[in-house]
Amino acid sequence: MIEFDHVTRTYGPKPAVTDLSLSIPRGELFALLGPNGAGKTTTIKMLVGLLRPSRGAVRICGYDLTKEARSAHLHTGYVPDEPTLYDKLTGREFLWFIADMFGMPRHMATQKIGREIEHFELAEFCDDLTESYSLGMKQRLVFAAALLHDPDVLVLDEPMVGLDPRSVRIVKDLLRTRTQEGMTVFMSTHTLAMAEEMADRVGIMVRGQLRFLGTIAELRDHMALETTNLENLYLELTTAGPDAS
Ligand code: ATP
Repeated sequence: MIEFDHVTRTYGPKPAVTDLSLSIPRGELFALLGPNGAGKTTTIKMLVGLLRPSRGAVRICGYDLTKEARSAHLHTGYVPDEPTLYDKLTGREFLWFIADMFGMPRHMATQKIGREIEHFELAEFCDDLTESYSLGMKQRLVFAAALLHDPDVLVLDEPMVGLDPRSVRIVKDLLRTRTQEGMTVFMSTHTLAMAEEMADRVGIMVRGQLRFLGTIAELRDHMALETTNLENLYLELTTAGPDAS
């Protein structure tokens, strides 16, 4: 469903992601972890077509993000770390704008917009201009917009930032339901507990390279440490030297 095929991305001479190969099957929730500057956002930007790989290919549902971007985008929903909205549109108008962009017929758009307003509990404020929204309200609207067209792949950059505990619960429940229905999720997170609770597999990136790929249980085995505390395992892995894998 998602494929990184020997992907390298440099900024000038400096590599941000180096020779990343990774395959994520349908219905998997994958979490990418790593310290600041590890290359997570660069990886996500390549996955949604905002950055081109310097080498290698990224594919979604078999579509190459560089050569068949439009087809790949039709299958993808994206929630960036900082929600971007149009201040002078209401939440409902924003959802209509997204539905139009995906060429949704009117009756289908009405039904899906209603569904997402209900899922993300937007009814109270969706007819106000988005300029008046708090960060959490904006984030909920962006989630609703990303899921409107029932994407096969949902890409989330630090999805829980700004959400209150109730909204976090709504998002977690939706991710569970949608992945059970076959949606694939790729998310970056600094929240280890979130990765442990939600992810089928995690990748740990350090200085642009995947240092670990597997389940949390495999991570514990791999590290063969006395501790089973995830935070300690993570710190051990991300602060050790380059040949620690
Ligand atoms: P964080 O957790 O802090 O958000 P990250 O894992 O998302 O970090 P990236 O933002 O992908 O990391 O950055 C990876 C590397 O690429 C870093 O060394 C960063 O300084 C560099 N980098 C990112 N964007 C640019 C840019 N536009 N120009 C030059 N270097 C960049």
